[in-house]
Amino acid sequence: MATKTKRFILPEDEIPTQWYNIQADMINKPLPMLNPGTKKPLKAEDLYPIFNQACSQQELNQTDTWIDIPEEVYEQYKFYRCTPLVRAYELEKALDTPAHIYFKNESVSPVGSHKLNSALAQAYYCKKEGVTNVTTETGAGQWGAALSYACKAFGLELAVYMVKISYQQKPYRRSIMQTFGAQVTASPSMSTRAGKDIITKDPTCNGSLGTAISEAIELAMTTPNCKYVLGSVMNHVSLHQTIIGLEAEKQMAMAGEYPDIVIGCFGGGSNFSGIAFPFMRHNILEGAKTQFLAAEPSSCPKLTRGKFEYDYGDESGYTPLLPMYTLGHNFQPANIHAGGLRYHGAGTIISQLLKDGYMGAVDLPQTETFKAGVFFARHEGIIPAPESCHAIAAAIREANKCKESGEKKVILFNLSGHGLIDMAAYDQFLAGDLVDYSPSDEDIAANLKDVEPLQ
Ligand SMILES: *Cc1c(COP(=O)(O)O)cnc(C)c1O
Repeated sequence: MATKTKRFILPEDEIPTQWYNIQADMINKPLPMLNPGTKKPLKAEDLYPIFNQACSQQELNQTDTWIDIPEEVYEQYKFYRCTPLVRAYELEKALDTPAHIYFKNESVSPVGSHKLNSALAQAYYCKKEGVTNVTTETGAGQWGAALSYACKAFGLELAVYMVKISYQQKPYRRSIMQTFGAQVTASPSMSTRAGKDIITKDPTCNGSLGTAISEAIELAMTTPNCKYVLGSVMNHVSLHQTIIGLEAEKQMAMAGEYPDIVIGCFGGGSNFSGIAFPFMRHNILEGAKTQFLAAEPSSCPKLTRGKFEYDYGDESGYTPLLPMYTLGHNFQPANIHAGGLRYHGAGTIISQLLKDGYMGAVDLPQTETFKAGVFFARHEGIIPAPESCHAIAAAIREANKCKESGEKKVILFNLSGHGLIDMAAYDQFLAGDLVDYSPSDEDIAANLKDVEPLQ
């Protein structure tokens, strides 16, 4: 019986053994991060008080193209990698498009998203450097869930500050974190000075990612042997995520195709970087013509409507100044369901690549993304995370363009996670209760007033 291959999976011994560092190949390197006080470029050592040393060095490494995946991390990757590359035949048929659509299914990780790829690496480096305790913040809980798994795997204690409103309204990711042994605290909390200050001013405060970051950093600075880790935005996180695209490149070869368009949803940039950078390498070095498209929410449009300036990575201004496309660190995105995409800025590598024309971006209203997610679920059988619905909606737009033009483009998108713990969002969509948000030009301009112009 001659059947078509649906899923392409690499044998275990063909899982890539190195991550790809695009900084080494970039023609215009990312601009330096600056110390906000002195305005001097940061060195790796300046990051050591908060981050582990290996990740601090990876952050600023602009010379080594390939970085070995430590054996211990590789062994952990084998629990769920290689993730499948899937040809979306049913989606193609339903759209009646001549395009070939593929997706990389990162939702098969034990915690349901791509975030584990970097959580395992960061936990490993912490352990190796003698760290015993790790802290982080989490919004909807995807990053906290991934890190709790990784800390259990490497024997580290984890304290997570979870935005209070999510802690109350989205209890199941909290349960996942607790199942893996993490200590989860609703933020703001009375356990830090930053939290106490906020509660004293406003006892009913629902919390924000900015406050949770402040609490996590404060704990890391005041606890011996404790480091802070982040799930997105930073260059080392993007580096770890390139395992996605490196596998996909080999899997596309198994399918006998090469993508014309690569799409990922965009929050801080980690899953997009992961699927895109290994293919972008061929654009930079060999003049390949693949198009790269980051799919962001209309409610938080930093790539399509933000400005390229120096800005803080967090609301409270604790981080170095980062050269990035930003809506301003005080920007308060509407409370959309794709919590992982509600971030005001983009990483420094992505920002440079966008400025130099190596990639593009598109913004999508949330009702269109849920419509795409439901359509995808009904034809391909997987309920996507609300974040991933943005990538699907963008892929559907491209497939529809192919239908009009008759072009047989090969479209590859990253399915960054599943939505099985986000069904309340689907309930709202199916009940017709979801609305779209888009900030006015005046709102955006007002928030950009405080950011530092690029010299
Ligand atoms: C966190 C998250 C995102 C957004 O973060 P990036 O760093 O931009 O990838 C996207 N999808 C899922 C499933 C997530 O958990």
